[in-house]
Amino acid sequence: MAIKIINCDKLKQKPEKATSFGKVFTDRMYVRECVDGKWGDGVIRPFDALELAPCSSVLHYGQAVFEGLKAYRNAKGEVRLFRARDNFKRMQSSCERLCIPPVDVEEAHAALTELVKLERDWIPTEIGTSLYIRPFVFADDRSLGVHAAARYKFIIILSPSGAYYAHGFDPVALKVERDYVRAVRGGTGAYKVVGNYAASILAGELARSQGYDQALWLDGVHRRYVEEVGAMNIFFVLDGKLITPALNGSILPGITRDSVIKLARGSFGITVEERAIDISEIIDGAKSGALTEVFGTGTAAVVSPVDRIGDNGVDYIIGEKGKVGNIAATLSKALTDLQTGEAPDTFGWTEVVCS
Ligand SMILES: *Cc1c(COP(=O)(O)O)cnc(C)c1O
Repeated sequence: MAIKIINCDKLKQKPEKATSFGKVFTDRMYVRECVDGKWGDGVIRPFDALELAPCSSVLHYGQAVFEGLKAYRNAKGEVRLFRARDNFKRMQSSCERLCIPPVDVEEAHAALTELVKLERDWIPTEIGTSLYIRPFVFADDRSLGVHAAARYKFIIILSPSGAYYAHGFDPVALKVERDYVRAVRGGTGAYKVVGNYAASILAGELARSQGYDQALWLDGVHRRYVEEVGAMNIFFVLDGKLITPALNGSILPGITRDSVIKLARGSFGITVEERAIDISEIIDGAKSGALTEVFGTGTAAVVSPVDRIGDNGVDYIIGEKGKVGNIAATLSKALTDLQTGEAPDTFGWTEVVCS
């Protein structure tokens, strides 16, 4: 797999400080096309608009998947990727679910590494900042008809992003979603498929209009087992134990989720239970005080503490208002230190791309 590089005529002005998320993009992107099941050579070229036919199949049937990961630069100038191959493995499984010819993991990884090296000057260094990486694959057949497409594009774009929590943690409020569901077993909930997000927007907007930050999804069949949040998996500290919903086929297998479980068990000797969690257990725990911490996990915020859960119009405050729980704070620090190279990586999750 050769990578051709097309130079930029003019480089963009880099922001002095990375403050936003997903608004600023680097000078270049990686683009690779697939025709009749065969991925061609990739090209790194200036970040610019794509040309799409009005009949392009992705616009009509949504045959598309994406990933999200980050590169971190520390005070020594080292640039690290975190479990990037795991993201590309997940992208393969998402592709397979949507009948998209999967992209080879090593080839995707090589393309990303090349792109990140070229764009290294865009990576911010301040604590908490990173280079957000968005790989995605979409169908680009130029005809209508619901079937697996013959043409696809695999693209990687990069966006320097500010610290998610610029001034310490900013806990979020969740609303238990009782009307809508995100996914069902046999559907696409366990894959990063674009349609999942389109289907989730209404519940998110309703939650925000009612004073919450995001919806907390329940399972689609019994409508009582906790699944996850918009783009985060969810953890609870109940009766002193760390618990999280078991991957059941409708939950997205988060890489941060997996890292938090392995860190909790391996580095801190914390017992973690992966099991079905009835929402009534959580509400009862909130009432009795047995529920001491709730937090979400995902690439964007890493660990995101939850200080309030609303259900059927009643709000339950988690832990001490405005204080972040011990376990969330401990795991968050351990994981971010490992990602940036501040702490040794005994798990083999990080790789230095350049410095
Ligand atoms: C991406 C995502 C997550 C988190 O996955 P990470 O690999 O930890 O970033 C969780 N839930 C959903 C629905 C997601 O899309």
